[in-house]
Amino acid sequence: MSGRNILVINSGSSSIKFALVNEDRDDFIIEGLAERIGTPEAEVTWKENGEKKHLQLGNADHAEALAQILPHVQKAAGTLTGIGHRVVHGGSQVHEACLLTPEVIGVIEANASLAPLHNPPGLMGINAAISLYPELPHIGVFDTAFHQTMPEHAYRYAIPEEFYTQHQIRRYGFHGTSHMYVSRKGAEMAGLPVEDSCWLVAHLGNGCSATAVVNGESRDTTMGLTPLEGLVMGTRSGDVDPSLQVHLHRTFGYSAQDVETLLTKKSGLLGVSGLSNDMRTLIEASEKGDKKAALAIEIFCYRLAKSLAALSCALPRLDGLLFTGGIGENATLIRKKTLDHMRVFNFKLDDAANQECVRGKGGKISAEGHPLVMVVPTNEERQIANETLAVIDGK
Ligand code: AMP
Repeated sequence: MSGRNILVINSGSSSIKFALVNEDRDDFIIEGLAERIGTPEAEVTWKENGEKKHLQLGNADHAEALAQILPHVQKAAGTLTGIGHRVVHGGSQVHEACLLTPEVIGVIEANASLAPLHNPPGLMGINAAISLYPELPHIGVFDTAFHQTMPEHAYRYAIPEEFYTQHQIRRYGFHGTSHMYVSRKGAEMAGLPVEDSCWLVAHLGNGCSATAVVNGESRDTTMGLTPLEGLVMGTRSGDVDPSLQVHLHRTFGYSAQDVETLLTKKSGLLGVSGLSNDMRTLIEASEKGDKKAALAIEIFCYRLAKSLAALSCALPRLDGLLFTGGIGENATLIRKKTLDHMRVFNFKLDDAANQECVRGKGGKISAEGHPLVMVVPTNEERQIANETLAVIDGK
């Protein structure tokens, strides 16, 4: 096989997502997911050249799971050029993808308190992969890195300076890998040079964020210190009045942990609907007359529209609005409802094109003579592989 192979690893608390990406192939040689890691039911399923495979991992932790998975990857790859690791929080210290030296690993550890659900499992995957393949280059690709170009007036909170200077409390932004890939792909699809293009990107999955991208750089984004700020998400509230937390504590005796659980695990689409965090389920329920599901959808779309309008303040002009993520790439209703809330922008969808752009098909969905709106399927694994190769090539 010609072209170099990069293994992409994304470690969650009880899961490891992985893909074997060849630089000359559009599809992935291997794409898989290990789940329920750390339990007796631990298992991995993967697709290898189109064929489905499965392995029980029997109580494996991250290191054991990778030790069982990687020989299969190695066999399919022949030669591996490097490993790209998704890392959620790189703080202010990391501005771009880089080699995972002991110093960089120290930065990831130091930022664990800002991403307690993400950085520690990421580190488990990194350490396990390095001990299995010490001779290969291991590259960290950080969710926060793309947003390091935000100007200070966008990333600082209006709180006393020492919280920023002494404790690094500022807005960081997340989903950077996706926002970067989608804004570049969108420019390519629209026939515009990346370095002279202005986009609003809405990444709508289980986690949701929107970003203003100018000339290939993030200028503002909806997520902040943590991935809780901003849009309404599957189980996350997004923005609430910060006093809510004090009120819950004073009036109802909520602890910090109770507040965190409420706002990150029990809120968002799930909290409002009382039914599900899954948009597909809510659309179906709402079509059958479920009023709470309908309200959850309405809040989701209105809040998204409001945030997109706010982000337009970071753009000198608008070349287009790009939808991505599981909801953005598939939910025609959500795209329509969101744009209906943005009347002063003069958006108008081509209804047939909107219906057509689902299940991985991207393209223009706006009507002629109106601002450009496109669906751009994201591909974080490809972006991580591209950035990994760029670091290896010293670019
Ligand atoms: P992600 O985290 O990017 O995988 O996105 C997951 C979200 O996408 C869930 O809320 C899904 O319900 C939603 N989703 C996937 N397919 C559809 C669809 N056909 N219609 C509406 N929502 C969808």
